[in-house]
Amino acid sequence: MNDTRLADLPLREELRGQEPYGAPQLSVRSMLNVNETTYDVPADVVDAIAKEVRSVAETLNRYPDREFTALRQKLADYLSKESAAAITSEQIWAGNGSNEVMQHILQAFAGPGRSVMAFPPTYSMYPLYARGVYSHYIAGTRGPDFIQDPEDVAAQIREHRPHVVILCSPNNPTGTALTLDVVEAAYQAALESETMVIVDEAYGEFRQPGTASALTMLSGRPRLVVTRTMSKAFALAGGRLGYLAAAPAVTDALRLVRLPYHLSAVTQAAACAALDHAETLMANVEQIKAQRDRLVTELTDMGLSPYPSDANFVLFGGVDNAHEAWQHLLEDGILIREVAIAGHLRVTAGTEGETTDFLNSLRRYLNR
Ligand SMILES: *Cc1c(COP(=O)(O)O)cnc(C)c1O
Repeated sequence: MNDTRLADLPLREELRGQEPYGAPQLSVRSMLNVNETTYDVPADVVDAIAKEVRSVAETLNRYPDREFTALRQKLADYLSKESAAAITSEQIWAGNGSNEVMQHILQAFAGPGRSVMAFPPTYSMYPLYARGVYSHYIAGTRGPDFIQDPEDVAAQIREHRPHVVILCSPNNPTGTALTLDVVEAAYQAALESETMVIVDEAYGEFRQPGTASALTMLSGRPRLVVTRTMSKAFALAGGRLGYLAAAPAVTDALRLVRLPYHLSAVTQAAACAALDHAETLMANVEQIKAQRDRLVTELTDMGLSPYPSDANFVLFGGVDNAHEAWQHLLEDGILIREVAIAGHLRVTAGTEGETTDFLNSLRRYLNR
């Protein structure tokens, strides 16, 4: 019984031989590989979360508010402030991480016999979300330096007519944000087919000054969806809270596919408490952005080729043997990310001390 192997089970055909998502979870001094906030959760935020969770514990005999009403209002208020767009609570949807939110979108708008398009190199989960809902995944292409050009994006959407197109801005792993003319070109092309346009703004809070969020485009564009997460800027990766803003009709579509009571009372309470302390948490975002900019400057000085970044990480090329460099850093207690681009590595911007350690270790490797 215990030695039954996966291959012995009557698994769905398309899952045979596949690998699950598996960024290494190693416990080392500096974990700079999955773009978490590396600062501890501030003590007053810890206290506020504990207090809220303590209070809902008394009512855990009851199912949670299926409509997460209080949380939706707080998310709408936060987004309206953050992006200078007027977002209402009817426009908000949330799930256990933006991973689940994205799955809801694909369950409602993609699914069997339909297609999902994204533009690699991009978030490695997109093909897996598509596979999970039996959709066909279409890999679009990018221009030189992985830049997306409005006419080119529109032409690829017109050619493939996907049911869902995912733009990632700032893009993981390249770090760059899209200008809104790319989103607008994609949207206009999408109107010619049965296509929803998703902009994944998981790293939205880290964008460079003067870069607008696609949230400012929602008004009058019912097929546009902007996803966000509390996993990165809010230092709440362990809390699992992702969300989106879109036309209210879109959230109605997602109610058709979500499992009842998908957001636990504990999750709702923790997220609400963190949102009440958004300002405290955003203070660290400024520190992280400063380290991100420092990484770009110092990696350039070392003769490497970092990409401009609107995120909390930096992709850099110019490493002859990326795996060997990755291994050297790991031996120094620094875990960064290997990516599917030859000669490139991705590093999360951590605290000042972590960034210094990383840069010193990499310098030692290059001068070895
Ligand atoms: C980290 C990340 C997410 C966040 O996923 P969660 O499920 O919210 O933790 C979403 N999109 C991209 C591109 C990411 O890098």
